[in-house]
Amino acid sequence: MNAKWSCVRSNTVWNQLLQAVPYPGTLPEKWSSIPGDEPCLLRQYCEYMKEVTKSYLKQCELHCTVATKVWFDSKWYIQLKNQQVPLEADILILATGSEPKHLDLPYPSFSLCTALNKEKLEQVVQKGDHILVFGTAHSATLIVKNLLDCGATVTNFYATPKPFYFDRDGDYDGLKQDAAAIADKILAKELPVKMVSITDTVNVIRATRKVDGVVYAIGFESRNPFGLKDYDAQTGQISGYSNAWGFGIAYPNQASDGIHYDVSIPAFQAHMERQMPTILSQLRLE
Ligand SMILES: Cc1cc2nc3c(=O)[nH]c(=O)nc-3n(C[C@H](O)[C@H](O)[C@H](O)COP(=O)(O)OP(=O)(O)OC[C@H]3O[C@@H](n4cnc5c(N)ncnc54)[C@H](O)[C@@H]3O)c2cc1C
Repeated sequence: MNAKWSCVRSNTVWNQLLQAVPYPGTLPEKWSSIPGDEPCLLRQYCEYMKEVTKSYLKQCELHCTVATKVWFDSKWYIQLKNQQVPLEADILILATGSEPKHLDLPYPSFSLCTALNKEKLEQVVQKGDHILVFGTAHSATLIVKNLLDCGATVTNFYATPKPFYFDRDGDYDGLKQDAAAIADKILAKELPVKMVSITDTVNVIRATRKVDGVVYAIGFESRNPFGLKDYDAQTGQISGYSNAWGFGIAYPNQASDGIHYDVSIPAFQAHMERQMPTILSQLRLE
């Protein structure tokens, strides 16, 4: 997980991570003191994952550089930046992550990581600025609240039939915890946010008469640097290759309902563990 998101409060409760990635041994106090049924900062997720994986990483040949090209020729070859000789491997696993989506609009925009960090946002947003926020899911809702706290006025555009969907109503990936509380306040008009459907032409034009900035919180696009985009969403296997898999947010697995995709770290972990016997069975152990 990229450190730039570390100040964001997760929408996954701490126990979900502990169950998905158990601590090997007695859980140290710094982890056991975090309330299990509450979300935590993504920074705590990162720190925990780093510590739990430390002993495994010692057994790996680590290359902290960019892979520029991969190709298959009876083995996988991975070309690393600034290295002459490509790495050879029997199995390729891609977990290349994703980038926030944008719209091509003629307004100054604030990045998601700035907008999710109130201290950073205060440095770029002036009191009275009018900011457009695109999206009404978890990140967008937190961003709207950050903007209001900075003294901005906010128009929040939604592309769905209704502005907010809630976990408590059984909506997959619906809002919960902090984001749900903010959305409730917006709907109750306790927070002054203008909610506008992107299909409402008149109000879209009105809202864009004075714009000091925009934030796009409209989802993520898979990073696909090697052109290996197609994969089996049940197993993570890259199409056309019996020895290549994709995992994580770039290759999310289909949920058991066959419609949605699981996009949380505990869900990624459970999915990868399910595929491991197949992957390991292909390893040539000398
Ligand atoms: C605002 C926000 C809030 C979130 N909240 C939660 C939450 O509450 N709960 C939860 O479970 N998840 C949450 N997530 C999601 C979670 O952080 C991501 O799904 C997770 O980090 C994805 O992990 P990943 O390893 O697939 O990708 P990433 O963390 O994006 O990692 C991809 C890695 O691949 C590297 N890479 C890419 N291309 C190359 C290349 N060519 N060569 C070498 N390296 C390369 C990148 O540098 C990066 O290190 C949130 C995410 C965001 C942005």
